[in-house]
Amino acid sequence: MSRRRKPDWLKMRPPSGERFTEIKRTLRDHDLHTVCEEASCPNMGECWSGRDGPGTATFMLMGDRCSRGCNFCDVKTGGMEALDPDEPANVAEAVAEIGLDYVVLTSVDRDDLDDQGASHFAETIREIKKRDPDILVESLIPDFRGEEALVQRIIDAGPDVIAHNVETVERRQFPVRDRRAGYEQSLSVLEQVGRAADVYAKTSIMLGVGEHDHEVYQTLSDLRERGVDVVTLGQYLQPSRSHLDVEDYVHPQKFETWRAVAEEELGFLYCASGPMVRSSYRAGELFVDALRR
Ligand code: SF4
Ligand code: SF4
Repeated sequence: MSRRRKPDWLKMRPPSGERFTEIKRTLRDHDLHTVCEEASCPNMGECWSGRDGPGTATFMLMGDRCSRGCNFCDVKTGGMEALDPDEPANVAEAVAEIGLDYVVLTSVDRDDLDDQGASHFAETIREIKKRDPDILVESLIPDFRGEEALVQRIIDAGPDVIAHNVETVERRQFPVRDRRAGYEQSLSVLEQVGRAADVYAKTSIMLGVGEHDHEVYQTLSDLRERGVDVVTLGQYLQPSRSHLDVEDYVHPQKFETWRAVAEEELGFLYCASGPMVRSSYRAGELFVDALRR
């Protein structure tokens, strides 16, 4: 358990409603799982329904076991299973059936596979776009160990947004992330996406893992310099006692300050920033709003 008591602003109501139940049923029919449910994400009500715009859900590809073990993450490590060749089509069918306008695809890291799962990921994007070219697809990808050809495979599949999470400031990369990850490696992946035409680059930073304000500012500046368009900031919450401790519960006002710095000073297309914000938080609505501005 974290040494610190959770403040009131982190208490959320469980999701409910007709749309929520309907989406849940479709997911079960296709035997699919979302990060939203697996992580018991408190934003499900808001994201799935799309408060004033497109609804968003996040699908996890390539199994529920990761070849890496980051100290903040609740996904199981090791015991990797073979890929399901039907998964790309199956996800695309569920997305069409649910009628989502904005879908986030993410995956565990698959260092055990020759191409680290890049082709499978790209195939899922193509299957979704084949059924509905207007649907917006965000791909939250691993670092592919910085291999440009694998990142390019994702770019070539034609998603609208490619996200890769830098997770934290440079000094706190370890102990936060698995040793195979790294600040510079993540920035280079984002820079490659930032250079590509017709796709937006996005990343996410967790606060509350021992970072200092000047380091957050430096990270935001580094990201902007590498061509990143969208950034999200959220509070780290400890999934269990064996995970990294929470160092600090950051006040909502400070999240608002970072949003203003990111959007108004550094020129990000948009920044979602708040204690309960996750990388894909209301991604559809916020992305479409930002493009309209
Ligand atoms: Fe979790 Fe991603 Fe780290 Fe795997 S690589 S342990 S899924 S954060
Ligand atoms: Fe799902 Fe992401 Fe929204 Fe959470 S923030 S409900 S994981 S789309």
